[in-house]
Amino acid sequence: MIPYGRQSIDNADIQSVVDILTSDFLTQGPAVPAFEQALASYCNVPYAVAVNSATSALHIACLALEVKPGDRVWTSPISFVASANCALYCGATVDFVDVEPDTGLMSVKALAAKLQQAAANNTLPKVLIAVHLAGHSCAMQQIATLCQPYDIRIIEDASHSIGGSYLQQKDGQPQKIGSCQFSDITVFSFHPVKIITTAEGGMALTKDLTLVTRMQLFRSHGITRNPNDMTEISHGPWYYQQVELGLNYRMTELQAALGLSQLSRLDTFIAKRLDAVARYQVLLQDLPLDLPDECPAGQSAWHLYIIRLHDENRRLAVFEALRSSGIGVNVHYIPIHTQPYYQQLGFQWGDFPQAEAFYSRIISLPLYADLTPEQQQQVATALQSACKE
Ligand SMILES: *Cc1c(COP(=O)(O)O)cnc(C)c1O
Repeated sequence: MIPYGRQSIDNADIQSVVDILTSDFLTQGPAVPAFEQALASYCNVPYAVAVNSATSALHIACLALEVKPGDRVWTSPISFVASANCALYCGATVDFVDVEPDTGLMSVKALAAKLQQAAANNTLPKVLIAVHLAGHSCAMQQIATLCQPYDIRIIEDASHSIGGSYLQQKDGQPQKIGSCQFSDITVFSFHPVKIITTAEGGMALTKDLTLVTRMQLFRSHGITRNPNDMTEISHGPWYYQQVELGLNYRMTELQAALGLSQLSRLDTFIAKRLDAVARYQVLLQDLPLDLPDECPAGQSAWHLYIIRLHDENRRLAVFEALRSSGIGVNVHYIPIHTQPYYQQLGFQWGDFPQAEAFYSRIISLPLYADLTPEQQQQVATALQSACKE
């Protein structure tokens, strides 16, 4: 089976993990801050907090932004459930903004209309979570401009888009996703299907010292060792205080060492993904389906290659034919609001028509750094015959 996504592990990755095993620290040592600093520097952002998953990063991002019961958080229905669940963990209410029919990215028009209505009804969100589906940046400049008058805080769920960049430049340089140019916090995932991996892992990046301090607190039990944050004089060198109800979301040294090693090849991974995309665009051009467009808002990291069949009634048959030819296709994503848990909260089919229409046509084809031209030819041949059947 050719999977839809897969990690790329080389000998340097393996050695970096093995070295940790015989070092002094398996957790809470120097590798985690080294990985944080390296990624912050790659993204040109001051602060980064490494955690054990992007789900955890989204959770501490919401906690740092003081998302609470009674607050609203908006996100995209075309995402992994974690993009919405993080708000529910904080007791907030989730709502969704419909997507663009061609890209599945949050629609700026839908957002503008929804904000206007919410302003009139006094139901504005505290936080908006923009999702860079497939590695394509949302129209962040427009989204930030729309949110700014209402003081809505922005989180970018950039789980798909590490290594990508925005179109908008700063000081003549294209800004990497993660620079937080248009957001308070940006979150990355290092799950093995994502662009770089730490097995499980995630990172939250920010320009804001208050937010990074709060995220560090929530990552580790809500415990501080900084005397300035304590409510009484320190009892001695052993002393710490729990000042918030935090969690244990820490990343291990093994994961951080793997992450550092992977980060050194991030640009190579992106270049290989771009080559594979260029090959697909040629191989698949005459089929009864729409190929993904280039990202209008910057350079995509191309986490996913999502095709849209012209005939939604053919999706199941084409999907099954591909799977039985050994092509590990997938669908990204089932609209979150249609999940039973979300239906229980009051959502139903029909609530976000563009997201549902997008969902009905899509298939994600295999795309990863080590995918070979021969494998891509195999995918193309299988897809061609699946479309004919
Ligand atoms: C993978 C993913 C997550 C969750 O990442 P984990 O590291 O597995 O917790 C969240 N949001 C999106 C968009 C994702 O693709």
